[in-house]
Amino acid sequence: MTKAIMIIPPHADSLNIQYLTRAAQKISDHIEAVAIGPKAPSSLPKVIDKLWHYPIDQKSELSTEQCYQIINTYFEQGHLITLSGTFSKELMPFLAAKLNIMPMTDVIAINTPHFKRAIFAGNIIESITSSQERYVLSVRPSCFKQEYELSPLNAHILDPLDIVSSDQSLSKENSDLPDLLSANVVVSGGRGFASEENFKLLHQLAKHYGAGLGASRAAVDQGYIANDHQVGQTGKIIAPNVYIAFGISGAVQHLAGMKDSGTIIAVNTDPDAPIFEYADIGYCGDLFEVINRLLAP
Ligand SMILES: Cc1cc2nc3c(=O)[nH]c(=O)nc-3n(C[C@H](O)[C@H](O)[C@H](O)COP(=O)(O)OP(=O)(O)OC[C@H]3O[C@@H](n4cnc5c(N)ncnc54)[C@H](O)[C@@H]3O)c2cc1C
Repeated sequence: MTKAIMIIPPHADSLNIQYLTRAAQKISDHIEAVAIGPKAPSSLPKVIDKLWHYPIDQKSELSTEQCYQIINTYFEQGHLITLSGTFSKELMPFLAAKLNIMPMTDVIAINTPHFKRAIFAGNIIESITSSQERYVLSVRPSCFKQEYELSPLNAHILDPLDIVSSDQSLSKENSDLPDLLSANVVVSGGRGFASEENFKLLHQLAKHYGAGLGASRAAVDQGYIANDHQVGQTGKIIAPNVYIAFGISGAVQHLAGMKDSGTIIAVNTDPDAPIFEYADIGYCGDLFEVINRLLAP
């Protein structure tokens, strides 16, 4: 049976690696994992047969092309599977094009050779029957939730390749906060913050409550925060237990990234903001007043 190679994105947390494992199990009984980054995970689900590590130092980051070179050199065979996110959006189509394989991205269900994926901001579910011998795919972790018993696994170190470090960087999230893709609670901010300085309040709030930090595209475009944090059609698709939207109007493209959250709470000064139609709890008022109260000792 063709093995599945799980590509562990940099900064992926343990829970997401477990969900990725669940998806990998659906395409093969034989799973290996590869981590490209400063550290390899110290423990992994027991069902993973082997862990490979391509070490890079803390500061250097690899471009998509360099990651491709590593994967192509060491993993000529096997299905390639990773988590949907900024990392996979660059890497998987690139890998697939180089390997002449059709990529399947944002996969939400697997029953090989049948796959389902969300397209058009999750409004349409596409069913694919793949006749390819090798799959290249990214999966939405929230659709493969399963927790595993973890056990320590020694990493096999891959020899460094003669590849030149480039300026093109992979995303790096704020390391003092939980991973947006697996955080239980996400606080998210939009244009309503009005400045980068004000947006720091939301970072403070996230830190205070141990929440993930999300943002609308308007907040990213305005430069309030890096695009790693963007939630939505062209950002991350998340489904935390609680999603709190501050100063976000609720455009369809934003809703596409968070509408499956457990409880949606919205704070907005405009009573007609579309987000209130989707919110389980809505507060019509000033976001600064609410955040300052939540941060008050
Ligand atoms: C192809 C495409 C892809 C896109 N992908 C994404 C995506 O992935 N993610 C995404 O988010 N968007 C995406 N967009 C953009 C999307 O259409 C919206 O423009 C964007 O989501 C708006 O962001 P916002 O809600 O922060 O800003 P706005 O729509 O400007 O809303 C700001 C809100 O803040 C409120 N507000 C202002 N001041 C305060 C205050 N003091 N207290 C409380 N509330 C306040 C206002 O009432 C308003 O409702 C995409 C658009 C396109 C065309």
